[in-house]
Amino acid sequence: MKWLERVSTYYILKKHAIPDHAWFQVTKKLPLLRFLNSSEKAQLRVLTTLFIYKKTFIGTYDLSITMEMKIIIAAQACLQILKLGLNSFDGWQEIIIYPTAFKVRKEVGDEAGIVHIQNHALTGEAWIRGPVVLSWDDVERDSFNVRAGHHIVIHEFAHKLDMLNGRANGMPPLHPDMPIQAWTESLSTAYQHLIKRLEHHHNEINAYAATNPAEFFAVMSEYFFTSPATLKNYYPKVFEQLKRYFRLAPQRSDH
Ligand SMILES: [Zn+2]
Repeated sequence: MKWLERVSTYYILKKHAIPDHAWFQVTKKLPLLRFLNSSEKAQLRVLTTLFIYKKTFIGTYDLSITMEMKIIIAAQACLQILKLGLNSFDGWQEIIIYPTAFKVRKEVGDEAGIVHIQNHALTGEAWIRGPVVLSWDDVERDSFNVRAGHHIVIHEFAHKLDMLNGRANGMPPLHPDMPIQAWTESLSTAYQHLIKRLEHHHNEINAYAATNPAEFFAVMSEYFFTSPATLKNYYPKVFEQLKRYFRLAPQRSDH
């Protein structure tokens, strides 16, 4: 199978190449990619090309999806898996894009067993074995200007990585050289610490991280890529774990 895979990858990269001008014009506007060296950028382009070929992008409410939009989403999603490989995004197919934040209807059971219907406005969602859903407004806002701890593309695709070993619980499949205990201790200590800080109204870290361990991992991933210095400063052990997991060391001079 290996050689067949290689032939098909070669074919996709040749036949479905992202045109040079589109690639350079779009990626130079994405501050998250700036820390990559030229060989990493070339690798990112390969992954982005394959991602765009393999996944289906669907616009809702007549939103038409351009090549530029696909590159913006795919390049930043693939930044996360630059050292993990594209098969980290296997097992699902679609990226559904809403023009703006979208309403979802959810049925939530309470402790008494009564099911309530809730309407939420969401900017993104990741379904287990299902699509990633994104609001284009929010993708644009987060992609072109760095905001520490806020990046909808990084957030939703981090959930996808987390879901590789079942329900999102704040722990994606770790590399063999990463002890599970070190991960669990580092992240849960920081998570508990954050909850305490918020109780005392210290909200220097995006409070959404305190929702549950899955959101904690997703938001810490947002910090890792948007403002690694902040993460290193507040939660150095989490930073270390994410660095070992993503096998990257982002640096921001612009933040
Ligand atoms: Zn989330």
